[in-house]
Amino acid sequence: MLDKTSLNQYLEAQLPAALEMLRQMVGINSFTLNRAGLKHLGQFTADAFVPLGFTAEFVPSTNPKFGDHFVLTRRGCGPKNLALISHLDTVFPPEEEARNHFRWQVEGDRIFGPGTQDIKGGTVMLWLVLKALQTHAPAAFEATTWNLFLNSSEEMLATDFGDVCRAHFDAHTLAALVFEAEGRLGNEHLLAVARKGRAAWRVTATGRGAHAGGKHSHGANAVVQLAQLLPRIAALTDYSRDLTFNVATVTGGTVLNRVPHEAMAEGEFRAFTPEVYQQAKSALLALAGPGEVKAVTDKFPCEIQVEILTECRPWPRNASTDRLFEFWRQAGEELGYPTNLEERGGLSDGNQIWDAVPTLDGLGPWGDNDHCSERSPDGAKLPEFVEQSSFVPKAALNTRAILKLLSHGSN
Ligand SMILES: [Zn+2]
Repeated sequence: MLDKTSLNQYLEAQLPAALEMLRQMVGINSFTLNRAGLKHLGQFTADAFVPLGFTAEFVPSTNPKFGDHFVLTRRGCGPKNLALISHLDTVFPPEEEARNHFRWQVEGDRIFGPGTQDIKGGTVMLWLVLKALQTHAPAAFEATTWNLFLNSSEEMLATDFGDVCRAHFDAHTLAALVFEAEGRLGNEHLLAVARKGRAAWRVTATGRGAHAGGKHSHGANAVVQLAQLLPRIAALTDYSRDLTFNVATVTGGTVLNRVPHEAMAEGEFRAFTPEVYQQAKSALLALAGPGEVKAVTDKFPCEIQVEILTECRPWPRNASTDRLFEFWRQAGEELGYPTNLEERGGLSDGNQIWDAVPTLDGLGPWGDNDHCSERSPDGAKLPEFVEQSSFVPKAALNTRAILKLLSHGSN
């Protein structure tokens, strides 16, 4: 096995080049709807991995508003292969970055900037780990086929990237490793072994419009109907089962002298297990049908419609992820980097692939405030940042754990 001191010395020596790569990546805006920026970043990333022997292929998104996904491959001389997952896009449009002066900024151990933690820092982590493997474990590195999958639209929860990954997996794919940021609890490195599923929904109440002065009793008020329904949706939340419903937006009515004929609300729900997720979905869909708000004149009822807009299924806790995590736990013990697991509420590409191959998430560096770009003078609001000092220990941990996986893992 690797000697910790020489591995860490090697990684420390590579860190300046890694951070310079990150600085350049952060300088390229890659908001999900910025197709040109995504192409630029995809090409930059592909070029960064060429010296390691990778070749690039791009796969158009099924949604033409999104950029191309990138797949980088280095063929090995043996049959085993590993999938390494990251994404290119961020949640920050260029105007928002400019408005909030949100750009690469080093302050002590912290580097602020769009994507420093989510997830350009993760892509740079991948590069560090592959460099370490190539130098310190050349036989294992050469024997393995490495597939890097870079999603162009992870932040918009598009599902076609999962199909791209699955099309490349085969019987010799040992695992899919997702380089989203790690969690922290005290000095423990936390990896993600489960993630909630999420459904976005829309509820529409349709009533009957009427003149608010002359024919008030003829109207069936859709706003009143929706207002009665929303507390019932909110009450579907059940913390004891990790199920949350969020009523997020409400619109309805037009002008003040009309009994409103339509009102609409949108929101989402999230759950960890497929069972709870399905029950929640059924409970929501069961609200559809005639409502209790009716016109006085002829009992004309409001009608309630429920639509599921998008779905990302849960990644539940499972035995093959737990087995994979064991390699990281052991590596952490040997290196003196305590490593533990967590189930996370947010989504990742892991949700789309966990049942195709054993999947582990949270292999990136540590930072905080992902998806935030604002900074207030009193420091109460801080934007996304990554901690420089988290790269070397985590890269060492990943390198050691991947070597364990390659020598013990079979699929
Ligand atoms: Zn994100």
